Amino acid sequence: MSLELTVLGSGAYAPGREGKVRNPAGYAVRAGDDLVLLDLGFGNVRQLARARLDPSEVSDLFLTHAHPDHCGDLPALLFLFRSGPKPRSGRLRVWGPAGTRALVAGLCRVWTPWLDPRGYALEVRELSDGGEVQGLGWVVEAKSVPHTTRALAYRMSRGSASLVYTGDMEYDPSFARFAASCDLLLVECTCAEDDAIPGHLSPRQALQIARDSRCGRALLTHLSDASAAAAARLLAGEPRAELARDLMRRRI
Ligand SMILES: [Zn+2]
Ligand SMILES: [Zn+2]
Repeated sequence: MSLELTVLGSGAYAPGREGKVRNPAGYAVRAGDDLVLLDLGFGNVRQLARARLDPSEVSDLFLTHAHPDHCGDLPALLFLFRSGPKPRSGRLRVWGPAGTRALVAGLCRVWTPWLDPRGYALEVRELSDGGEVQGLGWVVEAKSVPHTTRALAYRMSRGSASLVYTGDMEYDPSFARFAASCDLLLVECTCAEDDAIPGHLSPRQALQIARDSRCGRALLTHLSDASAAAAARLLAGEPRAELARDLMRRRI
């Protein structure tokens, strides 16, 4: 029983300079017959195609929070499912913190009727701290994290394989307990230095969480140009941590 992670977008809100483009937050996790998405920032439906992943296999989308760099491609996914292939499972479940229902309803209202589900069921569910979702052989647990809006982190397990994902979060030393001994920690680090942007981690803080959690491996992601450069310098002494790249795959 394993999980396979594909990084759709390893970047944050800015596209990157000098041709070094990173898509915003989006990750696909293969869990048996299900394809589970963690966040879906702008452009990530097309990133699925570049990764040779079939959008119709998507069963669940877990949104960490409502900032557009984490959910901006939700209209693209709903429009695709309305106009073309449908989810094979017959439904798409969208999970997120309080406010997710209003977000999806608002998008559907603005674009009415073009995002309304046709030929499949769209289920939008809100999770709070400690919430748990059971899939086909996989489980996702939610944890509230400090950010500039309501935000969740997720821990996904299948058998003995486990992945922890932070969307955006301010440094919180207690987070290491939630991530304890996970096989892969997918951790944001948008700031080059501590506290440079409210509600975000720096590479130093991300690596501190990785060490404290005793995770198997850490993948630093949600990178800006500056934080990628700062992280690359720190990673020299961290053999079990690496920088995320768009379309990279890791088996867990
Ligand atoms: Zn955010
Ligand atoms: Zn973000």
